[in-house]
Amino acid sequence: MTDTAVTGNNFLRTIIKEDIASGRLSGELVTRFPPEPNGFLHIGHAKSICLNFGLAEQFGGRCHLRFDDTNPAKEEQAYIDAIQEDIRWLGYEWSGPIRYASDYFDTLFEYALHLISTGNAYVCDLSADEAREYRGTLTEPGRNSPYRERSPEENLALFTAMRDGECDEGSRVLRAKIDMAAPNINLRDPIIYRIRKVSHHQTGDKWCIYPNYDFTHGQSDALEGITHSICTLEFEDHRPLYEWFLVNLPVPAQPKQYEFARLNINYTVTSKRKLKMLVDENVVDGWDDPRMPTIAGMRRRGYTAAALRNFCDMVGVARSEGVVDMAMLEHAIRDDLDKNAPRAMCVMDPLKLVISNYPEDKIESLLAPGHPNRDDLGERTLPFSREVYIERDDFREEANKKFKRLVLGKKVRLRSAYVLQAESVVKDAEGNITEVHCSYDDGTLGEDPADGVKPKGVIHWVSASHGKQAVVRLYDRLFTHEAPDRGGEEFLDHVNPSSLTVLNNCWIEPGLADAVPETCFQFERTGYFVADRHEHRSEKPVFNRAIALRDTWGKAGE
Ligand code: ATP
Ligand code: MG
Repeated sequence: MTDTAVTGNNFLRTIIKEDIASGRLSGELVTRFPPEPNGFLHIGHAKSICLNFGLAEQFGGRCHLRFDDTNPAKEEQAYIDAIQEDIRWLGYEWSGPIRYASDYFDTLFEYALHLISTGNAYVCDLSADEAREYRGTLTEPGRNSPYRERSPEENLALFTAMRDGECDEGSRVLRAKIDMAAPNINLRDPIIYRIRKVSHHQTGDKWCIYPNYDFTHGQSDALEGITHSICTLEFEDHRPLYEWFLVNLPVPAQPKQYEFARLNINYTVTSKRKLKMLVDENVVDGWDDPRMPTIAGMRRRGYTAAALRNFCDMVGVARSEGVVDMAMLEHAIRDDLDKNAPRAMCVMDPLKLVISNYPEDKIESLLAPGHPNRDDLGERTLPFSREVYIERDDFREEANKKFKRLVLGKKVRLRSAYVLQAESVVKDAEGNITEVHCSYDDGTLGEDPADGVKPKGVIHWVSASHGKQAVVRLYDRLFTHEAPDRGGEEFLDHVNPSSLTVLNNCWIEPGLADAVPETCFQFERTGYFVADRHEHRSEKPVFNRAIALRDTWGKAGE
């Protein structure tokens, strides 16, 4: 059941519409995006962002950003900053201040006291191993902890001692007193507070006990007046616990949790833990390496926010797990860049052409369209001179008819310029071609040759005396395996050894040196490229390949 934006509906929109119709949702729709700041966001999070912020937008409601920061040992301010930047870049703004689950630590502590005083929580001294034994299995019920019948007074004293730092880490925990025989293991007296003697990025050393995720999430939703708490399917089994807390605590509202399927894409991994391994083991060059499926990586790669939003819409919202083909993401990127990226020329493996009959001191400024179908993208000026660079593999001394590029004795058109004929080659001592000498036909600017014989091919070029040198980084998929981390695979074994090729001797048309970082271009005949966000400067232009023009993955090139 994958509904898409094309039909204008998905099951969550349907639920919200029904809630409005039935009066359950009488006020504003309030959603939230609740990342844990333990890594950069990835494409899966982009989907959750588009969904939560998108629904709020569609129904005139609001969406909160709340950092789910209950695990201080793994969390960092740098991730908090990066996550905000990613959300804004995707085109969304949260309502109100940035919120933190840790903003509610005082209230959560009060809630824990409430559960203790109502006989719904107890301090348990079982070790982790013992607790595991008592928990039972999927097929066998658990057994009651010997500490389960402690009185509220004793529990209160012990829990206060935990809070005051008087107990060792791991020596005791606070557990909800629910049902050790419950078929759903999440209800078998789950832990709600642990002793963690670590400082917290928001609350410093105020606490040495921290509530766990389950005890924090629903109550935070209630405190913020979240109406629809949307999460991924792995939390479906936690919903009864989410609801148990809401029923047993004096919370100001009763949010409802809805689950949808995580976005999985083949040929990549979407787990912060695994992405962190790629960073820590220097498989990639940081979280925003253009090969990473992180939002920051895709941004640096030249994927646009609009394309990612479109993609998230295209994949829809499902209730059952599935894997989306990487080709679909790539299609969304190509589609957007084809429509919006200005055209330009870049020669990546240069071969010099000398146009013997073109005057040595002559320079012309030729005009070329910014985009074939977009007049609003204007025109660009291409200086033309006696020496130009073309791609080495666009020339052959001999070739059959299938080769529609430059061949000795034959003609080719230089894009937006003249028709040339190759006359002779110059070779070095090893027999490598170092120059091709050509003649040009000066009546062919925007015109067919007078003899009516049209050249078969059009190739790209850059003036040797006006072009600028550039570094071009060709990125490819990071993994060669369709399912790098499924079925017990060791995902690091499937890293594509040629996911990055750096070309240091490229020539770009001169206007590209001044490209604003993060501007995307279609380099004619070669692909879509972006001026690197961090390293592109006019004295050292650096372009990253977002994606090739066509999908040739797994196929033998052109
Ligand atoms: P990871 O496994 O990568 O650490 P997570 O679910 O632990 O992911 P959180 O920071 O807790 O990451 O996630 C924030 C929100 O993003 C949650 O609501 C979560 O359900 C959602 N989310 C995470 N991964 C995906 C995904 N692949 N597809 C859709 N939503 C996702
Ligand atoms: Mg998580």
